[in-house]
Amino acid sequence: MSSSTQAVHEARQQVIAAGRFAAARGWVPATSGNFSARVDAHHAVVTLSGRDKGQLTEADLALVALAEPLPAGLSAEAPLHIARYRADPAIGAIFHVHAVNAAVISRRHEQQGEIKVAGWELLKAFAGIHTHTQSVRVPVFANSQDIPTLAGQVEQRLQDFPADALAPGYLLAGHGLYAWGRNGAEAQRHLEAFDALLQLQLEWERITA
Ligand SMILES: [Zn+2]
Repeated sequence: MSSSTQAVHEARQQVIAAGRFAAARGWVPATSGNFSARVDAHHAVVTLSGRDKGQLTEADLALVALAEPLPAGLSAEAPLHIARYRADPAIGAIFHVHAVNAAVISRRHEQQGEIKVAGWELLKAFAGIHTHTQSVRVPVFANSQDIPTLAGQVEQRLQDFPADALAPGYLLAGHGLYAWGRNGAEAQRHLEAFDALLQLQLEWERITA
């Protein structure tokens, strides 16, 4: 493994900042969630299992090679991160949270397999969206404990989504949200936008259902 010490340090700092951000909002209760950032074309840092995301230090993040078998001790959901980095070289960070809005609305839409989010000004917080008249589709997958198989299903389905309609993230039903961006700051903005949009959508469905 050859990755510059500086690049590894910067990737770890992005994850530490995002972990504090998510913990402050109550999105990662009881050491749940997992966070990662790309170091270079072939490496990423990923949170180790069971760490409090609000109090991460650089020692709580493992450096992994994207093309090699994963080391022991990573978050059980690490393969979902690795599969995304392999599939899309533009992704620089991936943050996964167990936020209430994501966990609740994903159960409601599990059968449809996606949530169409439309009509909200905040959609413009997603990279590439410049008007509230654009809509995005957020894929919803059934939850599973067989993460390697789930990662394959996720990547297969994301490939089939039209790129201009795909939100920068997906939901696992009754579980939570995966969001990504070109770097840590963008992934964090997407995480926050998703949470607000999913809350808007929940409220909207409550009064219009
Ligand atoms: Zn999770």
